[in-house]
Amino acid sequence: MNILIVGTGYVGTTTGLVFCEMGHQVTGLDIDEQKLKSLQSGKLYFYEPGLDELLSKHLQERNITFTSDIENAIKENDIIFICVGTPQGEDGSADLKYVKTVTESIGKYMDKYKVIVNKSTVPVGTAELVTNWIKEKQETFIPFDVVSNPEFLREGSALHDALNPDRIVIGSVSKKARNIMKELYKNFHCPIVETDSKSSELIKYAANAFLALKISYINELARLCKTLDIHIDGISEGIGYDKRIGHSFLKAGIGFGGSCFPKDVSALLYTAKKSNHRLTILEAAKEVNETQPIHFIQMVKSRLGELKGKSIAILGISFKANTDDTRESPAFRIIDGLLAEQAYVTCYDPKAKIGNQKVIQQNNIEDTLRNCDAVIICTEWEEFQLTEWEKHKSLMKSSVIFDGRNILEKSKMNEIGYEYYNI
Ligand code: NAD
Repeated sequence: MNILIVGTGYVGTTTGLVFCEMGHQVTGLDIDEQKLKSLQSGKLYFYEPGLDELLSKHLQERNITFTSDIENAIKENDIIFICVGTPQGEDGSADLKYVKTVTESIGKYMDKYKVIVNKSTVPVGTAELVTNWIKEKQETFIPFDVVSNPEFLREGSALHDALNPDRIVIGSVSKKARNIMKELYKNFHCPIVETDSKSSELIKYAANAFLALKISYINELARLCKTLDIHIDGISEGIGYDKRIGHSFLKAGIGFGGSCFPKDVSALLYTAKKSNHRLTILEAAKEVNETQPIHFIQMVKSRLGELKGKSIAILGISFKANTDDTRESPAFRIIDGLLAEQAYVTCYDPKAKIGNQKVIQQNNIEDTLRNCDAVIICTEWEEFQLTEWEKHKSLMKSSVIFDGRNILEKSKMNEIGYEYYNI
């Protein structure tokens, strides 16, 4: 099939390349010429394991092209995936301005039947809005169907997740569109949930919110554990073996971040509020997440005392390992907290860039640790686990580690002479 992917970001690029793998012909469209240039030349402009190779392969085999020519792209493709961003608006709602712009162009330029697929995370009722926006721009009526098909991939393992989804959700009342979607996904071996668009839209938010709940639950429990002198990781392990609970998203840390969880939690809370409901459990999860970095800094302060003039090394600024994405990264909340206390901050991340003039970014762990009063691990990069901590000790002014991701072993760190604190 000929597929148009609108928005060649993390989701759009991954989705497009996965469809190439499934034997389809893909056009990637974006408004950002720099991104298009980079992708067309075979260079992924963001870091995502395994995606580079797939991009080169499908460019070479001419299964994918990139363009900014929206008129021709819409005319030449029968299935259009919307993968643009849906950032958080000021009131917590999802801002649909990019989705609106794209759908208006679709209405303006479509010349025959199209299936318009919303892969962006959008609030309940957006398929209906999209339908209206398209109709408003059509000069004469041309039939089309709008489908909600949310994406569940995780950055850092996006390719694996998109190739091996746990389920595919197809939301549309149109049998014709659902059949086209099922044909498109016929080589995937997972359950397909067929439903209406509103349910499909809510499934995405409900899933992300549930995972956010799990994280906040374990983080709040970690606070209790600290008082009771119990290690939270043992609790996670103990409860995670219960198949009804599972181990994933039960690792205590400095909180969740990224381009999805914080904004999706806020958007779902907004949807509830607009319908005169309260999702009190989710409100609490949000609050726990917002206060988690504050609790962490408190722990740092209770050991180091006044932070003014202290030199703190930060390891990891991406919101999680294996991505260069720093959107809503809890590391930034920690860094901001340290800067507010007038500490000096130096950081290192294997892939992400800081873009904060007040923080010095180094290219390796050694230079970051040199002369620091303490080190804080903010991201669970494997490199930080594997590094030779024993060797690094002499670089630091004092060998104090605050592990915000519980990736190191306390007994081992104590054995080699570190003062070690974790969540
Ligand atoms: P992104 O910011 O990486 O990419 C969005 C792309 O859309 C950008 O390249 C931008 O230039 C482009 N764009 C904006 N307006 C456009 C227009 N009018 N025409 C063409 N291109 C346009 O975003 P993302 O992380 O890929 O997320 C996209 C959507 O998928 C969001 O709704 C997000 O919530 C959802 N989602 C993201 C993830 C994730 O892990 N990143 C996972 C599941 C779902």
